[in-house]
Formats: sequence, structure tokens, C-alpha cells
Amino acid sequence: MDDLAIDTLAVRAGIERSQFNEHSEALYLTSSFVFSSAAEAAARFSGEVEGNVYARFTNPTVTAMQQRLAALEDAEACVATASGMAAILSTVMALLSAGDHVVVSRGVFGATQQLFGNILSRFGIESTFVPATDLAAYKAAATPKTKLFFVESPSNPLTELVDIAAVAAIAHEAGAVLAVDNCFCSPALQQPLKLGADLVIHSATKYLDGQGRVLGGAVCGSKALVDEVLKFLRTAGPSISPFNAWIILKGLETLKIRMDAQSAAALELARWLEAQPQVERVHYPGLPSHPQYELARRQQRSGGAIVSFEVKGGRPEAWKVVDATRVVSITANLGDTKTTLTHPASTTHGRISPEAREAAGIRESLLRVAVGLESVDDLKADLARGLALIEV
Ligand SMILES: *Cc1c(COP(=O)(O)O)cnc(C)c1O
Repeated sequence: MDDLAIDTLAVRAGIERSQFNEHSEALYLTSSFVFSSAAEAAARFSGEVEGNVYARFTNPTVTAMQQRLAALEDAEACVATASGMAAILSTVMALLSAGDHVVVSRGVFGATQQLFGNILSRFGIESTFVPATDLAAYKAAATPKTKLFFVESPSNPLTELVDIAAVAAIAHEAGAVLAVDNCFCSPALQQPLKLGADLVIHSATKYLDGQGRVLGGAVCGSKALVDEVLKFLRTAGPSISPFNAWIILKGLETLKIRMDAQSAAALELARWLEAQPQVERVHYPGLPSHPQYELARRQQRSGGAIVSFEVKGGRPEAWKVVDATRVVSITANLGDTKTTLTHPASTTHGRISPEAREAAGIRESLLRVAVGLESVDDLKADLARGLALIEV
């Protein structure tokens, strides 16, 4: 299926029909598989003959989801996990040992930051956090012990971009592997492996499902690297439920059409926000005012569905906008067909000290919108109600 477009792969890749020739992908809710003889059981268990044994290792529905996502990321292989964090943990456990060092881009997802900053250090794995956009800092942070570079692009909530091709070159020169958390763009908008990354990591909970129903995650890359992750997963057990894999498999069918529509709406909303007198600044990679607009055009198919903006004032003014909404959901989640609105300084980034938050650019006046599939006019009206309460 190498020559097919991503739109086609999204609905056609990973189909293996059963004896019933079902058209829509079947859901195999089974934890184990039976064998026709003792000899077959022995051959399957030893790996001499390929086939399903137990759902902690493989399940046909999970395999279908993995094949479809691998096709979309243009990856040789993919392994699904119980959540996005399970994907990150499994990758780290598979590839690193005590004494190894990791370079991480600042502004990664909160739990990722906790994992690299506080948990792995207890096991002798040290991490250095570098500013996402500072290529010299990535280079300077590498040591002979560095095994992994881990980045997220665009960052949350400021939409800073990591130059994936440039960081891949730095990582490879240091003899390390580059893993990219591609959650915000999804393969519909960005394919990190084509830019030189070695692994793509997903929280499938977000855009891949796309409708806020299930948790899931995935790691995509070369067969050699993904096999290492699978070896850890089948032993340690953070495997995905076949039901969740089926939801995500079907979610992938509409991924591109959703991302295109949500990105187009986000661009329109970002342009509108930039013209409002109560708005100080808009952070959106699809706007020429974004400091990395040119990189965004090279690296992503569009600006994505997430827009952040700063209102004139501080927390009281930002909260006015949140509290005046009637349509959007006040929640920290993203990647849903329903638009969500977040005040990062008092929620997702609330536990960081005010000084560290300020240094990271997460101001009290900042709001993040993860644009869904509602009419953009309704979204504008929803935000306009609160903006009108801010005196300028
Ligand atoms: C949500 C998220 C994760 C974690 O995914 P879960 O499925 O919640 O475990 C990792 N990275 C990013 C960028 C996310 O947004």
C-alpha cells in the first residue's frame, strides 16, 4: 500500500477479514487464543510459528490499529499501549538503563516532565531540559551517556516548534535516538519519521480517537526499535484493550478530515483573535506573526487545531472570558470534536511556582483553545462575550 495517499490509508490500511468477510473491521474481545494441538501451542509459544497467544502480547484488533497507524506515520512498525504515558514509559524502559542520559525539550506534557524530571532519576536515568527552540542548547546538553532525545512539537500551550530535522541531526551525531511526541499534530499534519526522527509517540487519547472516548497510546518507528518496546510491553503489561484499539482504529478513518477542518477553524479563530482590542497576543503556528512561521510551513501541513492567546490584564480578565462561555467546554483535555478552553496558569500548570511559570512564558493572562468541529462563528461569539467585559 506504499503508493496510496494518507486519506486512502486511513480507511484501507490494516484490514484483515475473518471467515465472515465483514466489511467494517471486527472487534475481537478475547484475552486468549486456542490451538488445534499440543504441537501448535508449543510452536506459537516459542515464536517458531507466528500467531496470537494472549492479548497482553497481541490481539487481531490491536494489530489492525497498529498497522493502520504505522501506514499513516509511514513507519515500518507500530505498537499500541494502554495510554500515551504508557507509550512513553515503555519506550524509556525498553531503550534506557541506569547511567543513561536524556535530553528533553522544555514545555513537554506535564506527566512527561514528571517522568523524566522526578521518577526516572530514582532509577539512575538523568535528564536535561532545554528550551524547545534553542538548537545550540540541544547540542550542548548531549554527553557521552546521552541515549535519547525526547521532544514535543508544537509545545503546549505556547505552540513553540522544535526543528525536528535539525534535532534529529544533533541526536544522531551524539549517537542517540530521537523520539517525537506527535500528539498535537497527528500524522495528518506532521510525519516526524520523514523528517529524520527515529520514533513517533502518540497519546491516541487525543486526535487519533478524536471524540474523547478512550485512552490509548502508540510507538511507531523501525521494526528493530518497536520490537524492543514490544518486548517490554508484553512482559510488563501496559497493553491496550482491544475495545479501545477498535475505537481508535475507526477514529483514524476520519483523522485527516477532522484535522483539516479543525485546523482551518483554528486559523480563522486565530486571525479573528489577533484583531480583537482586548487581545494582547496570539500564539498560533499558522499565523505570519508566529516567530517560527517559516519552520511551521516546512514541517507541518497546517498550523494545527490549538490556539493560545493572552488577554490584556491578568488572571481576573482571563477568567472573565472562561466564565462567560456557553458553548465551549471548560476542561484541560484536547483533541476532541468539542472545543475546549483552558486557563493553564491555574490548572495544567498550576502546581509550578509563579516564578518558573513566568519564566516559561505561561502568564496569568494566557488562555488555550483546542478547536473542535463547531461553527467558527459560534466559537467567536462565545469568546466575544467575555472579551467584551475587559476594559481596554
Ligand atoms: C495527553 C498527552 C500525553 C499523555 O497521554 P495519555 O493518553 O493521557 O496518557 C502525552 N503527550 C501529550 C502531548 C499529551 O497531550
